[in-house]
Amino acid sequence: MAQQEDVFKKIVAHAKEYGFVFPSSEIYDGLSAVYDYGQNGVELKNNIKRYWWEAMTLLHENIVGIDSAIFMHPTIWKASGHVDAFNDPLIDNRDSKKRYRADVLIEDHIARLDEKIDKEVAKAAKRFGDSFDEALFRQTNPRVAEVAAHREAVHTRFAEAMNAGDLDGLRQIIIDEEIVDPVSGTRNWTEVRQFNLMFRTEMGSTSEGAMTVYLRPETAQGIFVNYLNVQKTGRMRIPFGIAQIGKAFRNEIVARQFIFRMREFEQMEMQFFVRPGDEMKWFAYWKEWRLRWHKALGLGDEKYRYHDHEKLAHYANAATDIEFQMPFGFKEVEGIHSRTDFDLSQHEKFSGKKIQYFDPELNKSYTPYVIETSIGVDRMFLSVLCSSYEEQALEGGDSRVVLHLPAALAPVKCAVMPLVRKDGLPEKAREIVDDLKFDFSTHYDEKDSIGKRYRRQDAIGTPYCITVDHQTLEDGTVTLRERDTMQQTRVAVADLHRLIHSSVSLNSLLRKLK
Ligand code: ATP
Repeated sequence: MAQQEDVFKKIVAHAKEYGFVFPSSEIYDGLSAVYDYGQNGVELKNNIKRYWWEAMTLLHENIVGIDSAIFMHPTIWKASGHVDAFNDPLIDNRDSKKRYRADVLIEDHIARLDEKIDKEVAKAAKRFGDSFDEALFRQTNPRVAEVAAHREAVHTRFAEAMNAGDLDGLRQIIIDEEIVDPVSGTRNWTEVRQFNLMFRTEMGSTSEGAMTVYLRPETAQGIFVNYLNVQKTGRMRIPFGIAQIGKAFRNEIVARQFIFRMREFEQMEMQFFVRPGDEMKWFAYWKEWRLRWHKALGLGDEKYRYHDHEKLAHYANAATDIEFQMPFGFKEVEGIHSRTDFDLSQHEKFSGKKIQYFDPELNKSYTPYVIETSIGVDRMFLSVLCSSYEEQALEGGDSRVVLHLPAALAPVKCAVMPLVRKDGLPEKAREIVDDLKFDFSTHYDEKDSIGKRYRRQDAIGTPYCITVDHQTLEDGTVTLRERDTMQQTRVAVADLHRLIHSSVSLNSLLRKLK
């Protein structure tokens, strides 16, 4: 684990050193949980967004996109439940002055009890060998039974307090279970307070009377409130979807793990409107299809898993997360939710406008049900970055840091390098750049030794390097070096476009989704 943390630190440092991600406002010592994307980061991020957008809108003829505003009428957040319920319970430790989510402290405590049981079971398994009956042991071993009963009791109290919004109840669990602050080691806790995660600001000058508005905590509501507009103007027939990419803001209490949990982040969300009763079929479709989208990138199928929710939000009738193996464990990257008709019905109620669909096949009107797919761009970026990073030992004691980015997502597709800065080689190299740049993001690089130049491109994940030498002037061939294998082949300049295109185009990635 410590080794994994080390790797993660190196990835964060690499992201900064090579222009992927910078801390926000760095010359002013930064702003917590806010980050900027640099010259390479923005390209990688745009390519991720394009992959998602085109997979949704080009490959599905019944999905269209929108781009709604960040500011929306405040009543929208009343209707959606965010004003009243988008809260985290927080608690402070008076000694360390650290702030925690009370629910997370208790969940961690329950996880420790689970670990205790697992340890007992593992110990017994070792002792009994092949004859070990785990189920029987769990039922009959008095020590395990005692911890399990305790765990169940804590869990029940916790679930009841959470469901009832009982903040004193949460605090009492922390006190009774003698949960200590991991930093100070003390139990000097404040009261538990409800903390709404939405950022608030004011719209309009005060003399006119300012209105409190929110920075949206999710992009989905912009889709729901435009459902009628899109359905009518696009003459959409159910089932159909609306996709959107945009910024979202949450005043996260504990923000950590780099760009995994940010206060300003970006989401790619799609709401798929279906007939009531058909939602489970579509939920299964989107669950499978979204995982296929992830796996097509080739980051490693074993790095993904589903996490089906047992405890559902009151409006949902099915929910699953797609988790990715980050250096700090399996973590949610995307959520797929069956949200029933909750959002559209709420907006109908709060706006007083009829939001229904007339189904010509059934000859009746109804409020559509919704399947939502919701993925964080930044978390996706992090999963791509972490799984691509490798420190590789090379023959002869040399080493390199290489990003094995999926070629279609790489910020730079190819770099063209004259072997030396004379004899007409730079001119020839420029000529090649001037041709390739219309189709691929192409770098020209003539500084330092060729080996150093290759390393620089490896470090930002450039799939191809093209070296122009004296032979190029004679027979029109160049060396094409491939990033992962480092293999070099002599190819004709005239063939470059075809060779590069076949592996770096988004098109070839999208075709895998067929
Ligand atoms: P978590 O439990 O990790 O806080 P969530 O369940 O609240 O996430 P959703 O509301 O389902 O997340 O949001 C959908 C997606 O948006 C998540 O899967 C994640 O990729 C992304 N996301 C949510 N919150 C953040 C954040 N603070 N920073 C970066 N991405 C986020």
